[in-house]
Amino acid sequence: MALTGLEIFKLLPKTNCKKCGMPTCLAFAMALAQKRVKLDDCPDVSEQAKQALAAAAAPPMRKVVFGTADAQVQIGAETVLFRHEEKFYSPTVLAVTVSDKLTGDDLKKRIDSVNSLQFERVGTHIAVGAIAVINESGQAEPFASAAQAVKQSGSLAIILVSDSPEAMAEAVAKTKDSLPLNAYATEENAEEMAKIAKENNCPLVAKAESIEAISELSEKIKEKGVEDIVLCLHAENLRDKLYNLTRMRVLSLKKVFRPLGYPTISFVSDGDAGQQAAVAASLICKYSGIVVVDTAEPYALLPMLTARMNIFTDPQKPVQVEPKVYPVGEPDENAPVMFTTNFSLTYYTVESDVEAARTPSYILVVDTEGTSVLTAYSGDKLNEKTVADAMAKNNVEKLVKHRKLIIPGYVAVMSGKLEEATNWEIIVGPRESAMLPKYLREVWSAPA
Ligand code: SF4
Repeated sequence: MALTGLEIFKLLPKTNCKKCGMPTCLAFAMALAQKRVKLDDCPDVSEQAKQALAAAAAPPMRKVVFGTADAQVQIGAETVLFRHEEKFYSPTVLAVTVSDKLTGDDLKKRIDSVNSLQFERVGTHIAVGAIAVINESGQAEPFASAAQAVKQSGSLAIILVSDSPEAMAEAVAKTKDSLPLNAYATEENAEEMAKIAKENNCPLVAKAESIEAISELSEKIKEKGVEDIVLCLHAENLRDKLYNLTRMRVLSLKKVFRPLGYPTISFVSDGDAGQQAAVAASLICKYSGIVVVDTAEPYALLPMLTARMNIFTDPQKPVQVEPKVYPVGEPDENAPVMFTTNFSLTYYTVESDVEAARTPSYILVVDTEGTSVLTAYSGDKLNEKTVADAMAKNNVEKLVKHRKLIIPGYVAVMSGKLEEATNWEIIVGPRESAMLPKYLREVWSAPA
């Protein structure tokens, strides 16, 4: 259990030197107990005290990493219940199952179909992060072979799912370079599974039927030397599952109850692809670190990944596109030039409307720190200077032979100052980008 502020205070130098930025050691101790500062902020704390304070300084939820290189994924390290309190740090890893009953071409086809679950959404690459190899055969050899085939496909992190220590040992032997997540240890096999995980430096899933049982199991595994633990709490239905995940999150973050201070994993296998997508989306919202689904249907995975993208967006950091000039189609020196802001949703709305117009164009994206046109203008992030600077930086005058700039109708008021700042003719475009196709077809006239 975490130390209280007063317990921490007793271990500090008590000189009130203020080097940590706090007025007193007591203030620092209180802040440390609430995880608002780091122990390293006090340069004078003794080694002995450091060890004693390690528990208080440790994050309430451990970060667990599995997979290697480009296939590496991170779960855990969360600090809040609600995104608006700070932000979420580790987007839920979506994994898709591969049964070890598959062999030959069927196995390859399934692995390829999982590896191909990658999409582009508002300029961001979103994809499944792991393949869960399921020991459906109940035997060691097919499990190890399927795990090796997944490893050779190489592009995703691996989760090995078996309650047989013998099968797990064989599969880990074939894949340990890929740092697979081993799932799972139970009350019955905990010692053997912990031994395999520890010997191969793999993280280990602890699976139990109740919060009390899973707390005891995670402690037991930790005593065996496995630090990276993922929790899998069984529940009969989605309601109970969400209730359990929420309780575990509250106990780990608010009560700093260490046996539950780990990320979680959930398995979704009931129902068709659509039902699995609905259940997975709920588990992404509250609070599963990994969600493993049976379906590999792109139409089911895309909404799950979209839900994840939305839930794990940093509320203080709007999704942005790179500020630069984007050609739409194959514009030439007579093509229209217009600008918008680098708020992702704004840019992609404008881009799709320009594309629909079938008039090859240049879109200059001005850096407004990810805010929309009106917000940026109101906050003075979009003005004649920022637009003129963006034009100069991107050599816009070299792209076209005319000097006409179409500006969003909502900032028509900028026209005069922008004309002076750029020496370009300013043309006020429509207020809504949905009107751009009509505007470009009927109003825009290319220079003679
Ligand atoms: Fe106390 Fe350390 Fe802060 Fe100095 S730096 S006031 S000793 S906690």
